[in-house]
Amino acid sequence: MTRCAALILAGGAGSRLGADIPKQYLLLQGVPILRHTLNIFLDHPDIEIIKVVIGADDRPFYEKAIGDLALNQPVIGGASRQDSARIGLEAMVKDDPDYVLIHDAARPFVDPTIIDRVLAALKSSPAAIPGIAVFDTLKSSTGVPPVVNDTLARANLWRAQTPQGFLYSNILNAYRSYKGPNLTDDSAIAEFAGLPVTLVAGREDNFKITTADDMRRAEYMTQNTIGDFRVGNGFDVHAFGDGNHVVLCGVRIDHTQGLIGHSDADVAMHAITDALLGAISGGDIGTHFPPSEKRWKDATSSVFLKHAADMVSKRGGIISNVDVTIICERPKVAPHRNAMQKSLAQILTINSDRVSVKATTTEKMGSTGRGECIAAQASAAVRFG
Ligand code: MG
Repeated sequence: MTRCAALILAGGAGSRLGADIPKQYLLLQGVPILRHTLNIFLDHPDIEIIKVVIGADDRPFYEKAIGDLALNQPVIGGASRQDSARIGLEAMVKDDPDYVLIHDAARPFVDPTIIDRVLAALKSSPAAIPGIAVFDTLKSSTGVPPVVNDTLARANLWRAQTPQGFLYSNILNAYRSYKGPNLTDDSAIAEFAGLPVTLVAGREDNFKITTADDMRRAEYMTQNTIGDFRVGNGFDVHAFGDGNHVVLCGVRIDHTQGLIGHSDADVAMHAITDALLGAISGGDIGTHFPPSEKRWKDATSSVFLKHAADMVSKRGGIISNVDVTIICERPKVAPHRNAMQKSLAQILTINSDRVSVKATTTEKMGSTGRGECIAAQASAAVRFG
């Protein structure tokens, strides 16, 4: 069995973008660029080992970006891309893979077909990189303001992309023995060592996010992909008992009775919590907050909802919307609807136009119709990638 590793270089400062955090941690559709990139490699069936090289000061960004992705400890990189790649390769000595793919974290649109082509080429070549033939006419200029000095022959020119693939031992040795000025990609190190490098087809979409224009293009591209939507539903009922108020969606409503429950019995919030957990296949409210545990006695249910929302975001999901229907004859929900939406939106940290609260009766039929209880059912949609 051939063992393939991916080395993701995420150590750059990304100064050209002018953001105050390194560009690989900027968000695209709410998900850090690095995580978009990692998802592609984590999902690829041939990649067995993944190592990420990060900047020495970037660990908090990194931890937040990867959430609960199953990854080994990151490697702290060096001063230049070249140093970081070498340090990353050295960190794989124990793993000793057959192939290594070295990839820029800031190319989140690499697709599995590019990875496939690079890996296929490694069967007959010690090095393979994706590239795109240059079709624009190339000018050279040194002046400010720029004036054309020369027109370059574009025939035979390619733009190099990543992932660049190598036989691991070959590229490790090439890096170890290279002494010279900084080169801008790994292929150049291989070429310097005399290794033949095969070119395979890259894709225009596999661009490196470098400038603000690139960021806009990346945002546009992610907006136009539907992504992976997950939907969950939740249902809950609490019986009426003694009391003078109920709590629904975090809003206290004076009433002639209260709802019986271990916590504050916020039936609507419980249904939404279960809908969110359902969307990520994360169990149900009872798994996370067993009624047998004393500490949840009289708890405000926002704790449960917040926990579910945190689980969604740790798994890389974004809450797209939630929708709850409260089923009861009394109290009247309509006067409190806006306050409920606001309260939920605040807990979920989403806009209130993504939160819907509805109410219905059961026409005096059944247990809700007889005023014995309040029921609630909810749906939630969560987007990944
Ligand atoms: Mg409940």
